[in-house]
Amino acid sequence: MGVTLDLSRAPAASAPAQPNLAGLTRAELQAALVEADVVRPDKARMRASQLWRWIHHYGVTEFERMTDVAKETRAALSQAFTVARPEVVERQISRDGTRKWLIRMAPGIEVETVYIPDVGRAGALCVSSQVGCTLNCTFCHTGTQALVRNLSAAEIVAQVQVARDDLGEWPSPKEDRRLSNIVFMGMGEPLYNLDNVASAIDIIADHEGIAISRRRITVSTSGVVPEIAALGARTQAMLAISLHATNDPLREKLVPLNRKYPIAELMAAVRAYPGLSNAKRITFEYVMLKGVNDSPVDAKALVKLLAGVPAKINLIPFNPWPGSQYECSDWATIEAFAAILNRAGYASPIRTPRGRDILAACGQLKSESEKIRASVRRKAAAPEARQSEP
Ligand code: SAH
Ligand code: SF4
Repeated sequence: MGVTLDLSRAPAASAPAQPNLAGLTRAELQAALVEADVVRPDKARMRASQLWRWIHHYGVTEFERMTDVAKETRAALSQAFTVARPEVVERQISRDGTRKWLIRMAPGIEVETVYIPDVGRAGALCVSSQVGCTLNCTFCHTGTQALVRNLSAAEIVAQVQVARDDLGEWPSPKEDRRLSNIVFMGMGEPLYNLDNVASAIDIIADHEGIAISRRRITVSTSGVVPEIAALGARTQAMLAISLHATNDPLREKLVPLNRKYPIAELMAAVRAYPGLSNAKRITFEYVMLKGVNDSPVDAKALVKLLAGVPAKINLIPFNPWPGSQYECSDWATIEAFAAILNRAGYASPIRTPRGRDILAACGQLKSESEKIRASVRRKAAAPEARQSEP
């Protein structure tokens, strides 16, 4: 074979500038079609519904496949917009069936998305809301990566589409789905990107599309108090709070955001969460850190703190990562902690670590974006370095 030029990465480098229709809500889709002069205003609603089904029910990635749309309209659509997927850079499957995708949204903008079987009704997809995170929770790998940027609604929806592509779930199945739940527990703080997260939820929950009900969509926050009520009002999603400690001095060490929004304020926002009831309980996440927050005294303090809140508690065994300063609590300690919660009437499942062999467990996600940028910097600096050599 002769010399070939590898252009396989080329499409991502010259990513289309057109907006991706998959990231628009129904209302936005109608407006965009009219604005781009692809559709007459009186036909916009009908045309948007038609496109919606192709994009979100059938999962098509080319306008060409929209066979009931006139040829000229398809041509006009592909001039103005795209429905393509981002590039999947890497796909890993764990021994336990967990899948992880590294998705390149744009050059240098990479996120990880994880599918965990047997969680929720059938299987949960853990999606990212930001590239990196501005918060520096001391036990979290993502926290060591500086924020690169917020993900757009299209980029959040794309994570669900990529998972569906790989799981073979198009057209959107009514029953027997492998992907039944969505958790915003990947990279980033979803409440610092609420507009895009809320739009993405509107799109994902629409019953003529991906159709994952809002009750099966959980948004996890480290405690951005002023946005909690808005999350409930705008999305009706389930709320998860990353609590991890029951007193301010310790929580400040683990979740530095606690200095801004201390536990009392956080709990007040939780108690006021729209729709809160026994049928719609709040999940409290509690990472089990050896010798830090795992004693019976801590468990009892947790019971006291949550008194009267319809809650379930997720005990998460700490997942170590290279350079982490904590250890995971012993199994017996975690069980003793859970027993105290159970006796007080709280369901407190211990989250079995999944996909540890592919670094896909909670808090282990960290895209290469930062490393790539570092390597680009190094390369850029290299000629200078060479010049300065004697
Ligand atoms: N930023 C949001 C959502 C992403 S983190 C938040 O903090 O809630 C998702 C969950 O993983 C959070 O509960 C977080 O505290 C937890 N987590 C982070 N690092 C972890 C680790 N190393 N081991 C176990 N859980 C971790
Ligand atoms: Fe950010 Fe959540 Fe990790 Fe904290 S736990 S650093 S908020 S991703």
